[in-house]
Amino acid sequence: MIEIKNLKKAYENVTPIENITCTINKGDAISIIGPSGTGKSTLLRMINMLERPTSGQIIVDGEDITAEGYPLNKLREKVGMVFQSFNLFNHMTVIENVCYGPIVIKHMKKDEAFDKGMQLLNMVGLANFAFSYPGNLSGGQKQRAAIARTLAMDPEIILFDEPTSALDPTKVAEVESVIKELKDQGYTMMLVTHDMKLAEKMANRVFYLDEGGIYEDGTPEQIFRKPLKEKTKVFIKRLKDINCHIDSTSYDFPALRAQIDQFAYKNEIPYEEAKKNMAIVEELVYGILMPKFIDGQSSIDLNLSYSDLLKDTRITAEWKNMDVNLTSPENKISMDIINLYENSIKSNENYIRIKVKDVNNEEK
Ligand code: ADP
Repeated sequence: MIEIKNLKKAYENVTPIENITCTINKGDAISIIGPSGTGKSTLLRMINMLERPTSGQIIVDGEDITAEGYPLNKLREKVGMVFQSFNLFNHMTVIENVCYGPIVIKHMKKDEAFDKGMQLLNMVGLANFAFSYPGNLSGGQKQRAAIARTLAMDPEIILFDEPTSALDPTKVAEVESVIKELKDQGYTMMLVTHDMKLAEKMANRVFYLDEGGIYEDGTPEQIFRKPLKEKTKVFIKRLKDINCHIDSTSYDFPALRAQIDQFAYKNEIPYEEAKKNMAIVEELVYGILMPKFIDGQSSIDLNLSYSDLLKDTRITAEWKNMDVNLTSPENKISMDIINLYENSIKSNENYIRIKVKDVNNEEK
């Protein structure tokens, strides 16, 4: 149903996708996993033409959607996308959000669009909120509304880009159960997520992205239990991780500290190493990033992942709309402290990845 041929995406400084060629069958539910920066999100954005490929083709039902001048409206009918941050129209009610695409793009009659919209809201459990505004909904409800809006266009394929990562942990399950329901109904979909349980549960097929392409493609059973290739094995061993999305200065930081403590405890990370992880997160988040945080604009995605195999922790932070310069004098003390503990750092103007020294190796 979808053919991706020799797809490549090069940005000015990095080429996350060198070559992707694959066939997606009707009814496939594909989870896309892999280390940060391997182009998972870029791949989804290209299938939705939010990003133009540098070269290669994406063919949906025999039509090349990457062709110059392919009508955007037609693409929106074929490919639906659900975003991390919902992207609802806040000045419209939930049902207006859901009916907007069918009426404006598909020229559906208003009462027909309304009936269909109500059916979809029923399916995602939001019929009682049809006339509410997004501002009055919880994060989980907003995401369910966004899913109903996407379904209203009857897309051939639905793309989910980190649909649960902006949600309060108590709201994740309600969105997961809607996604699982869509899988069971036979929708064709692709999901980028850091949540490995979700990636396993909702897919009949998993793409592990690395080295500029689909490094391993298999069933969830194969990828998560018996990966065949080296990098997939290392990644799968590194399943133990924490992800948090900081989108306000009133973020619950004590809860984050408690989560990091628990993470160390659950993964039996040696006490000395756990202390280092906490010190690095404190310097990075409180010392360097939060002073530059602008409410309503900025966001930070923080990930801690521990590898059983490698016995190390990786801490990654990616920030948006923040003017951060890691090498400026104001950050010197924090960076000096981080440097005491790391054994490698990769960074650019909106991203840092810190590999934390392994205590046991140090002692040896
Ligand atoms: P993933 O979703 O796997 O974490 P992304 O697709 O977000 O990875 O990004 C892949 C790489 O491309 C990263 O190094 C990122 O910094 C870079 N990148 C993504 N979008 C842009 C852009 N618009 N301009 C320049 N570089 C980008």
